[in-house]
Amino acid sequence: MPNTATRLRSVEDYRATVAALVGELPSRQVPVAECLGLVLTDDVTAPVSLPPFDNSAMDGYAVRSVDVVGASEDTPVDLPVPEDIPAGRQDVVPLLPGTAHRIMTGAPLPPGADSVVQVELTDSGVQQVRVFAPVGVGTHIRRTGEDVGEGATVLAKGTVLGPQQLTLAAALGITTLPVRPRPRVLILSTGSELVAAGEPLAPGQIYESNSTYIAAAVQEIGGIAHALRFVPDDVDALHAALAPHVGDHDLLITSGGVSAGAYEVVKDALRGEGVEFVRVAVQPGGPQGYGRYRGIPVLTLPGNPVSAALSFEIFVRPALLAALGHPQADRKRLRAQVAGAMKSPAGRRQYRRGYYDEGSVQAVPVGGAGSHLLAAFAQSNCLIEIPEDVTEVAEGDEVELVMLTA
Ligand code: AMP
Ligand code: MG
Repeated sequence: MPNTATRLRSVEDYRATVAALVGELPSRQVPVAECLGLVLTDDVTAPVSLPPFDNSAMDGYAVRSVDVVGASEDTPVDLPVPEDIPAGRQDVVPLLPGTAHRIMTGAPLPPGADSVVQVELTDSGVQQVRVFAPVGVGTHIRRTGEDVGEGATVLAKGTVLGPQQLTLAAALGITTLPVRPRPRVLILSTGSELVAAGEPLAPGQIYESNSTYIAAAVQEIGGIAHALRFVPDDVDALHAALAPHVGDHDLLITSGGVSAGAYEVVKDALRGEGVEFVRVAVQPGGPQGYGRYRGIPVLTLPGNPVSAALSFEIFVRPALLAALGHPQADRKRLRAQVAGAMKSPAGRRQYRRGYYDEGSVQAVPVGGAGSHLLAAFAQSNCLIEIPEDVTEVAEGDEVELVMLTA
């Protein structure tokens, strides 16, 4: 294993390393109902026309326009009604001249009819109908294929599938769509001090929270998260916790146990497994590790909650979005004046938590640089990015913001 501990990797360099490691998931056919937020890998063509048959756009009466040409309130036209056509009727009887078929919205237009008189312009008769207005040829008819012609390309490769696109696929009778599947992410929180919400806190214990952030952030972009939350700082326990699960996942993300202290369980367990531990020129989130564990990509994030979260945000999120085939894997950026002074270490890119106020068009730093400050993180809607060569930011300086909101 090369000794990389002394060399600081740049943020861009490490981001590229993570993206290459995570790669792209091969396209797969996925049931339409499970495709929300996924990205099409091929164009989709229509297997049927929409509408698939000429049908009525109104509840009313299918007629021939010429039969009601002079109809008015004062000179209504009476027509016999030999047939009733509800939606779904399949044996549609042709319309004879001088008659009307009662017809419902979406029901097939009978051959011989050229228009529909809406029920409001009639007396709603069942055996016979009195029509009070004329109707032009084609009125209230939805023609075969006027929405989509069979064989037409309806959705293009690269489309992010939202409710609108999924309903079109469903209307076309499509069962599955070609997409990059949801990455299955295994999350492992290490730390003998960690306990579950609902348990009392003994001295020295804290509630486990990193897996909640990582799982939520994975799910937010369309991944599937499975968290192993209480793995003690013990190498054998770590391997044992992972063993039943690694085979079913596309990516392993660990938190904790990678800094410079003693009891660095992730380092101790994974160093011999082909995982490389590096330092990145970023704060928070300097200690990182990457490689493969039992065949699947693994990323080891530092344990401090804000460090783990920002490591995910800066390195893992764009890689997972790219794996999903998203056309836009990066967050929106803004430039704004900052409403407070900040210090940043030389040679490190610092990400401070901020609140971008749309009214004043300013970014307000929230909390300090400490990577344990979760309440400030919860109030933030952006990260304030302080470049490697900047050590002091004065109030009123222009800064670059990475927006955490969509
Ligand atoms: P470590 O990198 O394991 O030394 O952890 C650094 C700090 O983050 C320590 O204060 C840990 O207690 C805390 N920490 C590590 N993992 C978690 C976690 N999953 N949830 C909450 N805090 C954690
Ligand atoms: Mg730890």
